[in-house]
Amino acid sequence: MPRPAKKIAKEKEAQPQKKYKSYARLRGMRDVLFDEYKYWDLVTNKAVDLSRTYGFKRIETPALESLELYEKSTGESSDIVSKEMYSFVDKSGEKIALRPEGTPGLVRAYVEHGMFNLPQPVKMFLIGPFFRHDKPQSGRYRQFSQFNLEMFGEPSPVADAQIILIAYNFFKELQVPVQIQVNSIGCKDDRKSYVSKLLDFYKERGRKSKLCQDCRKRLVKNPLRLLDCKEEKCAAMLADVPQIVDSLCDDCRNHFIKVLEYLDELDIPYNLNPLLVRGLDYYNKTVFEIWPLGEDQARQASLGGGGRYDELVEQMGGRPTPACGFGLGMERTIAKVKETNIPLKNHNEDCIFIAQLGEQSRRKAFLLFEELRRSGIKVRQMFTKDSLKAQLEEANKLGAKFSLILGQKEIIDGTVLIRDMESGIQEVVDYKKIRTELEKRLANGEKREELRNENLEVRS
Ligand code: AMP
Repeated sequence: MPRPAKKIAKEKEAQPQKKYKSYARLRGMRDVLFDEYKYWDLVTNKAVDLSRTYGFKRIETPALESLELYEKSTGESSDIVSKEMYSFVDKSGEKIALRPEGTPGLVRAYVEHGMFNLPQPVKMFLIGPFFRHDKPQSGRYRQFSQFNLEMFGEPSPVADAQIILIAYNFFKELQVPVQIQVNSIGCKDDRKSYVSKLLDFYKERGRKSKLCQDCRKRLVKNPLRLLDCKEEKCAAMLADVPQIVDSLCDDCRNHFIKVLEYLDELDIPYNLNPLLVRGLDYYNKTVFEIWPLGEDQARQASLGGGGRYDELVEQMGGRPTPACGFGLGMERTIAKVKETNIPLKNHNEDCIFIAQLGEQSRRKAFLLFEELRRSGIKVRQMFTKDSLKAQLEEANKLGAKFSLILGQKEIIDGTVLIRDMESGIQEVVDYKKIRTELEKRLANGEKREELRNENLEVRS
């Protein structure tokens, strides 16, 4: 039932006027709040550990680069550059862009820092924010993070297979079920002969006239992107479209077969997807995507993608250097990890909580906290609270093993109360011995009985 306007007006009047305006985050942007960080830590650590295990070194490049870098690498006709990039002229008149993807910046860094002088392959990974002015929806944001991993200087199909293996292991070890989609788009000549077959196909049976507006433009600008279209009427025609693998030259076909053989040997399940082209200008030979398993909209909800780009380094001013890599979306991965029951690390588990009662004890508790922390003991506190009940509740919430309680009496006696949070038993310990006492208890839980008899007075 609608509420009477008079009542609403009265309520508004009763509310105190705010002195200052408050602000909301921009559309398509997210705040990562406290509880979600458990997942970010888990996923980031997995990315870092896996990368290092396979010999990749961490790198970061700036979020801002020259606009031209993306126009010349990602490609002016790609959706990313033509529709989604945040680009602007800065105060010194330079045309710049917020990075929409990782590979161009990493290629620039490889060339700029003369990494061709290093032993090849050069293997690097990056975890950081990216920006695309996309239509925001679930799993699609205007700022998102990617785990990028790239290998420069290795032409062999082993490199492609290893990159796919790392991406596969990343999801497998995070218990996220995925399907790997893989295809080869060959070399420039292969694509040229394929594109002419593709154009012939659309000329036949009036197919051209059934295409969506975007695809009609793609026919002229970038026909491979026709395979990517999600419009129903275009997608329907794709069932009969010629396959690019049938246009591969011997070198590209053999390369692709070897990649697939490695994947078979490594027991990595994959799906040969003849429609996968990845929509960026620089790819050649192997391209792949990682889709969540069993989702209707798997393609749109892709968790990551990558492939080989053997000509990009040269096109960006470097020496001819074959390369391959991937970009995996952190937010989408985290959304999937949340659906699993993977155990998350509790950084407070088995901590020692220091509780205090009164001003004087608080001062001493501060010092005790620092002393224990410096000696490597996992201590926690809530010194802003006065009530012991509230402090012990916090200790419980954190999963503390013991609480140390400092009250007036303990200050006078030079002691500390030690409370076993599981049994609730409290014992008095000499303040000076607290550190060694804790170390003993933490090192060897079973010795507790013995210790109690040796130097503790029991208070229950
Ligand atoms: P792409 O290079 O466009 O295939 O992106 C690689 C991965 O980054 C995707 O599979 C997603 O997981 C993630 N990604 C791309 N764009 C977005 C976005 N707008 N919001 C969130 N994640 C994204």
